[in-house]
Amino acid sequence: MKNKSAPSEPFPASPCWLAVAVPTPAHSGLSGPLTYACDRPLPAGAIVRVPLGRRDVLGVVWGPAEPPAPALAAQTRPIASAFDALPPLDAHWRALIAFAARYYQRALGEVALAALPPQLRTLDATQLARRLARRAKAAPTSAPATAPALSSAAPAALALTPEQAAALAQIQTQPGPFLLHGATGSGKTEVYMRAAEAALAHDAAAQVLVMVPEINLTPQLEARFAARFAPRLGAGSVVAMHSGLTPPQRLASWLAAHTGQARIVLGTRMAVLASLPHLRLIVVDEEHDASYKQQEGARYSARDLAVYRGRLHGARVILGSATPSLESWHQSRPPAPAEGDAGGRYQRLSMPSRVGADGRAHAALPRVRRVDMNHQPRGAVLAPPLLEAIQARVARGEQSLLLLNRRGWAPVLHCSACGWKSECPHCSAWRVFHRIDRTLRCHHCGLTQPVPRACPGCGNADITPIGRGTEQLEDHIATMLQDTRRADGSPARVARIDADTTRRKGELAEQLAHVHSGEVDVLVGTQMVTKGHDFRRITLVAAVNPDAALFSSDFRAPERLFALLMQAAGRAGRDAAHGQASEMWVQTAHPAHPLFEALKCHDYAGFAASQLQERAAAGLPPFMHLALLRAESRSQEAAQAFLHAAAAALDDQAAAATDAPPGLAAALAHVSRYPAVPAAMQRLAGVERAQMLLESPTRAALQHVLHAWQPLLHGLRGQHKGIVRWAIDVDPLGF
Ligand code: ADP
Ligand code: ZN
Ligand code: ZN
Repeated sequence: MKNKSAPSEPFPASPCWLAVAVPTPAHSGLSGPLTYACDRPLPAGAIVRVPLGRRDVLGVVWGPAEPPAPALAAQTRPIASAFDALPPLDAHWRALIAFAARYYQRALGEVALAALPPQLRTLDATQLARRLARRAKAAPTSAPATAPALSSAAPAALALTPEQAAALAQIQTQPGPFLLHGATGSGKTEVYMRAAEAALAHDAAAQVLVMVPEINLTPQLEARFAARFAPRLGAGSVVAMHSGLTPPQRLASWLAAHTGQARIVLGTRMAVLASLPHLRLIVVDEEHDASYKQQEGARYSARDLAVYRGRLHGARVILGSATPSLESWHQSRPPAPAEGDAGGRYQRLSMPSRVGADGRAHAALPRVRRVDMNHQPRGAVLAPPLLEAIQARVARGEQSLLLLNRRGWAPVLHCSACGWKSECPHCSAWRVFHRIDRTLRCHHCGLTQPVPRACPGCGNADITPIGRGTEQLEDHIATMLQDTRRADGSPARVARIDADTTRRKGELAEQLAHVHSGEVDVLVGTQMVTKGHDFRRITLVAAVNPDAALFSSDFRAPERLFALLMQAAGRAGRDAAHGQASEMWVQTAHPAHPLFEALKCHDYAGFAASQLQERAAAGLPPFMHLALLRAESRSQEAAQAFLHAAAAALDDQAAAATDAPPGLAAALAHVSRYPAVPAAMQRLAGVERAQMLLESPTRAALQHVLHAWQPLLHGLRGQHKGIVRWAIDVDPLGF
């Protein structure tokens, strides 16, 4: 393995010089392409294998390179091989990758290579050529001859509702990008499919990218799209792309997209970086979802990149949600000439009504009922009227969903004698008590240990759980329903769905099937069950304990809570037969809180307006652009010292008139910098975390400063040996 390629590759006699994006180590400070020699010119976008240090890595040719200085020419290494059988990655893809790397402050090669399927790294040019030949033989490149061509006149299964028709007409005739604000169950997916049909009918090679936040949602969506499109476009025309696929599956999907064989690609955030040479439409479903933001490496927002990519390709972009992110909502505001506001860059489309099961009757949104927990029996887990409402539904054969965003039995164990609590030794977090296997588990670092028999602090045998998680709620509701009978006289059945019950592949789908078939009367779950699933028989949804998020220090907490509750309410009463009677219950000690008032009226727009007003007053996104410099170290002092030094280096640089990047001082004048502080989660897996916030009313100034900062940060690293890692997070979601 050692030094494998260097001696074995003969240096070309009259070399061409190529700039190649390679996965340079994250903190090498090398952010651009490296120069390699080749015996022939290769087009930009060609995929090659090249030596890097002692390794042999995959690279992407970025273009011709300047010939190196004669002294360096001899040290420049030749490429090892080129994947000639693969069409080069196109200019749009390269522009997207270059933008993502620049904007999110990462090395070009890192982002480029992260966007390629991992299995490609293990193949050589011959193996890949063979695989491509097999694919070409196996899969017909066009639709089966008997299938009718996709045209706008293709038979449609459903008649669109007037709201769907109006939204679609806009999508057809306006440039976008569009924010499709459609109530849960308003038929957004149908709009996506019609928009896809139109794009495919318009252009015989067109490709459509549809993104969803969760892997768990891809099979459902894939089934719907495959049923609609595969008969007309041929097998293999609809592919999935997400991290749950095996490496060979991922490679196959990627190749299908890259060669144009796949016409519809459904995937999670990673799919935004796929090679799609004929991309004509991008859909981002549930666009508000936090999982569109990558939380490690290049911390990109797939939603934001989708909008950028749409512009590059001249593709339509549809962002859809019942509870849009405040960023997208603000960006789609109509013009307000009186205030001199030209409006946002997105076009807002509204579908406020739900589609009933018969496609016409508009099932009402559920009635929201707030339960004042100040007036319930002390210690009641479920208020007596809520319990009665659940029991009545069991008897009637309807289903209820209890939502509690906390898994395990209890969030913490406590000794009343000495005050000991089940703290994680490695994190700033409590370890959660799971009664099922009598363990204490840290949900952050994964540390799992048996529950101690007695208090580790004082030996007291009586250590007690504080608070309540889904395990306990499941147990509690089962007890409370012991004497409740279903219509057929059989006992009530309770089930739980959370990350603990769905760890293995296929478990979630299996459990959801039980709910759909009516085998479950009461479902206890975390936010996992609120995402996108269409439960037709659920007529009662209850948020058991949502108050904590009302007073969180995270400025996005109210936005997230509102979206969660609104989405949860959206699970109820989707069936027209039950629509009228369906209810969303909220147990709270603050029933008059404006958030719950807005929820009661299903008033997303009102809630968003008040939140945006607060954000504007407080100087927060979307009115301010943020970036975090994060540092991790064995000690909090060392992490903060790095951040302080980083700030000082930036000031020095701006003050140094001679070699300051042009405009840095001017840009810095528009950027505010806050002192270094411990991260919200200060200690994680034994590592101390600190961060420094930068904010600016203009993206350009912030970007300018971050670019000037990068080389300084790389330089500082060497002087701060204690730093485990550092990273810049642009447009951070969490603090
Ligand atoms: P959303 O994504 O907005 O929550 P969906 O697209 O899942 O809603 O639609 C909800 C349900 O309504 C689905 O079962 C869908 O098949 C059905 N539906 C959507 N549009 C129509 C229509 N025009 N006529 C009849 N049923 C429809
Ligand atoms: Zn004790
Ligand atoms: Zn931990």
